[in-house]
Amino acid sequence: MYYGFDVGGTKIEFGAFNEKLERVATERVPTPTEDYQQLVETIAGLVAKYDAEFGVEGTIGLGLPGMEDADDATVLTVNVPSAKGKPLRADLEAKIGRSVKIENDANCFALSEAWDEELKDEPSVLGLILGTGFGGGLIYNGKVFSGRNHVAGEIGHMRLPIDAWFHLGGDKAPLLECGCGNKGCMDNYLSGRGFELIYAHNNGEKKKAIDIINAYNEGEEKAVKHVDQFMELLAICFGNIFTAHDPHVVVLGGGLSNFDLIYQEVPKRISKHLLSVAKCPKIIKAKHGDSGGVRGAAFLNIK
Ligand SMILES: [Zn+2]
Repeated sequence: MYYGFDVGGTKIEFGAFNEKLERVATERVPTPTEDYQQLVETIAGLVAKYDAEFGVEGTIGLGLPGMEDADDATVLTVNVPSAKGKPLRADLEAKIGRSVKIENDANCFALSEAWDEELKDEPSVLGLILGTGFGGGLIYNGKVFSGRNHVAGEIGHMRLPIDAWFHLGGDKAPLLECGCGNKGCMDNYLSGRGFELIYAHNNGEKKKAIDIINAYNEGEEKAVKHVDQFMELLAICFGNIFTAHDPHVVVLGGGLSNFDLIYQEVPKRISKHLLSVAKCPKIIKAKHGDSGGVRGAAFLNIK
């Protein structure tokens, strides 16, 4: 039995998966955001409860918005204050007496998709989240590749490629500040938020992404121009990302991934942003949606 915990800023979602990777239990509890001891006990309590229910000791994986420090394994996170700076994995292992794996939630999303029935034999899967922010995860042979510092796949904090900058207007382009402290991170441009910010910058009015897309569908001129510019921006940035990773399959998640035009336009536009020998990988929509975090966390323990 594989146990997964998706630890978020407001709730912890627990899921248990059998050997066929089918979900056999789900529970959601509020995240103890201030009290670290309570956080540890909540997770350990769920493990004990479901061990008793299933009569087995499940393996334990945790996904959270953040990562472990590569040297001392303390948790680096903003959204779960109770875990910040704490050796969560070591404390859980001591309390439960079993090994625990912790991964970034974007990596869990990518891992969940990579273990989809149709993708599980692919040598590499790149998961990209076009949500409030833009991030990703790299899966090689069914395992997360997180790198020396656990930042592999933090694609949102790569800066815009130079051709993307000129495409957005060069000197007239919006130079957006990122939460990480840098300027020009892709996180601020390729996300749903970026889609809205670029529209506001170019048109002098704020509009929600969904309203821009609805206006696009009605053929409204400003929206059509914006969507055309954004599709080319995605093609440029994806071209650069694919050149670094050359994934076999790319899975898109997050709110903006529901904009179906992306799956037609990006493959059509991308070849000029790739090396001439490279073909565009298959780009598909995520299948497991909101349960990606908990599925991926559980699947950290698949051997
Ligand atoms: Zn950044």
